[in-house]
Amino acid sequence: MSDRPLLNRRLAGMGTTIFAEMSALATATGSINLGQGFPDTDGPREIAEAAAHAVLTGKGNQYPPGPGIPELRGAVAEHQQRCYGLTYDPDGEVLVTAGATEAIAASLLALLEPGDEVIAFEPFYDSYAACIAMAGARRIPLTLRAPSFRPDLERLRSLITPQTRLLLLNSPHNPTGMVLTPDELHGIAALAVEHDLLVVTDEVYEHLVFGPAVHTPIASLPGMRERTVSISSSGKTFSFTGWKVGWVTGSRELVAAVRTAKQYLTYVSAGPFQYAVAEALRLPDSYFTDFRADLQRKRDLLDAGLRAAGFEVYEPQGTYFITTDITPLGEKDGLEFCRTLPERCGVVAIPNSVFYDDPEAGRSQVRFTFCKKDEVIEEAVRRLGSMGA
Ligand code: PMP
Ligand code: GLN
Repeated sequence: MSDRPLLNRRLAGMGTTIFAEMSALATATGSINLGQGFPDTDGPREIAEAAAHAVLTGKGNQYPPGPGIPELRGAVAEHQQRCYGLTYDPDGEVLVTAGATEAIAASLLALLEPGDEVIAFEPFYDSYAACIAMAGARRIPLTLRAPSFRPDLERLRSLITPQTRLLLLNSPHNPTGMVLTPDELHGIAALAVEHDLLVVTDEVYEHLVFGPAVHTPIASLPGMRERTVSISSSGKTFSFTGWKVGWVTGSRELVAAVRTAKQYLTYVSAGPFQYAVAEALRLPDSYFTDFRADLQRKRDLLDAGLRAAGFEVYEPQGTYFITTDITPLGEKDGLEFCRTLPERCGVVAIPNSVFYDDPEAGRSQVRFTFCKKDEVIEEAVRRLGSMGA
C-alpha cells in the first residue's frame, strides 16, 4: 500500500465525534452522562405505540416514497402553518430526511460548489464543519462570544465576500443556548437579500425555547422564503432521538435541489417511524407547552446546581444544554477537564473547544445537558459540588 493517507484530506483531523468519545467514556466509567444530548425518558407512549402499530400492520416496512410518506409531509406542512403561519405544499416543498443530520448534509452537498464560502456561527455543531468540508467549500466562522453569545451583525457584514454563497444558521443554538431575536433575524435577512445569499437554518430546537425568548423561523421574514432551506427533526421535540426522522421545508426549487443529493445518501429511511412522527406533529398545543415547561424546570435545576458547584453559568434561552466556564474552579482547559471528570467525580460533559476553529476561543467552556431525570441532575451536581472536597 502507498503512504497516501486513506482518509481524504477534506476529512483529515475530523476523527471520532466528541459525542461518541464522551458517551463511550461515560459507559466505560459508569458515569452520569450529561454530555451527548439525548433524553433519559422516551417521548409520548401513544407515539411509541403508533410506531409499533405501523411495524405490525405493515406500514412503512418496505421502502417508503423518496420524499417521505404523504401523511408526514402533510403533518410537517400543517405544523409550519399552525406554529408560524408558513405555507408549504406537502407535494414538493417538504422533504423527509434521516434526521436533521442528513438534511444538513444533503442541503450543503446540493447547494455548494467547491470554493464557495459558508458563514456559520461558531461554536458550531460538529457536522456543519464536516459537511462544508465534504462539499469542498470553505467555512467562515462568525464567533459568538460569552457571556451573551449574541451575533455581531457588523462583523457578519464584514465577512461577506463575492465567494459567500450561504449563511448556515442555528437557532436555538447548540451549544450556547442563544436564540436569535426578531431584530437579529431581520438584520441577517437584510444582509442575505442585499448580497443574494442562500440561508440554511437548523431549527431542531424550535420547541425548546424558554420565555421570554421566542423562536421565529427566518423563512417567515420578507424576502426569505425563496432563499431559505429550513431544517428540523423529531428527535428533540418528541424525545425519540434514535428514530432519526427529520425534514426540510423550502421553495420547490430549493427542495428539489436538496432531494437530488438526499436520494443518493440514504434514499429513504425510518418508514414506520414516519407514520408515528406524523401523529406526533399533530399533538395538541398542550404537549408542546408542557414539554417546554418541564425542560425549563430542569434547566433551572441544573443551572442552580452548577452555580452552587462553582461554575460560571451562561443561562440558555433555548436547547437542552447549558454552557459553563470552568475558570472559577481554577481550571483552564475544557478538553482536559472533560477527559478527567469521570475519574474525578463520575460525570461526563462536552468541551466546547471542539466546536471552534480556534480552540482557544472556547478553551474554558464546558457544556452540560439537562434532558435527564431530576434525580440524575441532582446527583450529577452533588458529585460536581464535591469534586474539590
Ligand atoms: N443540529 C443540531 C444543532 C443538533 O444539536 C443535532 C443533534 N441532534 C442535530 C442537528 C442532528 O439532529 P438529528 O438527530 O435529527 O439528526
Ligand atoms: N445533537 C447532540 C448533541 O449536541 C448529539 C448528536 C450526535 O451525537 N451526533 O449533543
